[in-house]
Amino acid sequence: MRSVYDLVVIGGGVIGSSIAYNLVNDGFDGKILVIEKDPSYEFASTTLSAGGVREQFSLPENIKISQYGLGIFENFDEIMDCDGDRAHAEFKQRGYLFLGNEKNWPMIRKNYEIQRGLGARVSLLSLDELGELVPHMNTDDLAGGCFGSRDGYLDPYGILQGYIKKGKRLGVEYLYEEVTEIEVARRKIEGVTTEKGTRIRCGIVVNAAGPYASVIGKMAGVDLPVEPIRKMAYVFDPKIKFDYDLPLVVDTDGLLYFRHETGKAILTGKSIPDEPSGFNFEWDRDYFMEDVWPQVAKRVSKFDTARLIRGWAGLYAMNMKDGNAIIGHLGEVGGFYGAVGSSGHGLQQSPAIGKCISELIQFGKYRTIDLSCFSFHRFETGKLVFEEEMV
Ligand SMILES: Cc1cc2nc3c(=O)[nH]c(=O)nc-3n(C[C@H](O)[C@H](O)[C@H](O)COP(=O)(O)OP(=O)(O)OC[C@H]3O[C@@H](n4cnc5c(N)ncnc54)[C@H](O)[C@@H]3O)c2cc1C
Repeated sequence: MRSVYDLVVIGGGVIGSSIAYNLVNDGFDGKILVIEKDPSYEFASTTLSAGGVREQFSLPENIKISQYGLGIFENFDEIMDCDGDRAHAEFKQRGYLFLGNEKNWPMIRKNYEIQRGLGARVSLLSLDELGELVPHMNTDDLAGGCFGSRDGYLDPYGILQGYIKKGKRLGVEYLYEEVTEIEVARRKIEGVTTEKGTRIRCGIVVNAAGPYASVIGKMAGVDLPVEPIRKMAYVFDPKIKFDYDLPLVVDTDGLLYFRHETGKAILTGKSIPDEPSGFNFEWDRDYFMEDVWPQVAKRVSKFDTARLIRGWAGLYAMNMKDGNAIIGHLGEVGGFYGAVGSSGHGLQQSPAIGKCISELIQFGKYRTIDLSCFSFHRFETGKLVFEEEMV
């Protein structure tokens, strides 16, 4: 391993690995090192994610980001092929179904128009049409739904490994140590140091540390409004199995979701609105029994007899200001970039974020999608960008 690199990415999750891959794939003229502290990715948000991808957002930029991502995910196995060793995205385009109730139906309909205007494959469904799409669903309390037929879910581990393998094949190097220090001199990045004392000199650092983004920001003297927020997911085995596959159903204003998993099991999750921030990886069985399962069974009564198979907790890197990613230069430190705070939608955004950060670093501007609304600068100007369709 050399001691001087042109660019260091801190965090080798799906976003850091996509950035590194896109840089080399786009012809970056320099040596790239990704530093990752958790080689098995046991605690990475990426591997603990539900793997959902959707065109259904309210912000045009988020819709475009997902559309770019869909184009990559639909062809991921071939794009990331390494001499016949194919990637495994396991992308299942079974759709996303946002359920509309009295409260959120106007918002869903408004966003449907924005999505259609950008060419998204979405349709508004009446209650009868909802019943045809998911015959077992109780629709009594609903006003309608919005179905995205291009949406779906994939294997986050397969996507991560695809980026890592292809990136390494193209020349990206990985170091499995923890970064503990960033050297800044005359307001410019000079290098990083790890807990093992490894010192790397470099002129560019990209913060892609997911829920640890603020810790890394502080090392360079930049305060980021990103906090780790626990999200729990559960898989249960319903006694009655359907002969069709559920789309990913988003219920109760985005708080609850459920979808089919391998073997007709059901994967579900429900956000706790006042969950405190912290590096908490404990999952709560009682929360499933008392809160999540009753709500899923209320929507699909056939799920009232079921066996909990497993649960887990992972972290959203939550941007506490507006719930959207912070992309580009961070603060006033020359050579300090980041793609952080992607909240609950970072996996699906990883292809576009990787591509666009690569362009920003190499050409000084975005070419594929203009992501300047997500700049760190927005916290100074007050031009926050809120996303209405959060899950
Ligand atoms: C339960 C759950 C469900 C989700 N569902 C979805 C979904 O359906 N769709 C979607 O798009 N997104 C979803 N997300 C969000 C998504 O997983 C994340 O936004 C995305 O994985 C972020 O990727 P990342 O690379 O930024 O973070 P991570 O995967 O966390 O990677 C960051 C890496 O940085 C490393 N790191 C941190 N500090 C250091 C350091 N000092 N030195 C070296 N390495 C360091 C960490 O070890 C980690 O591996 C979900 C998340 C959770 C928890």
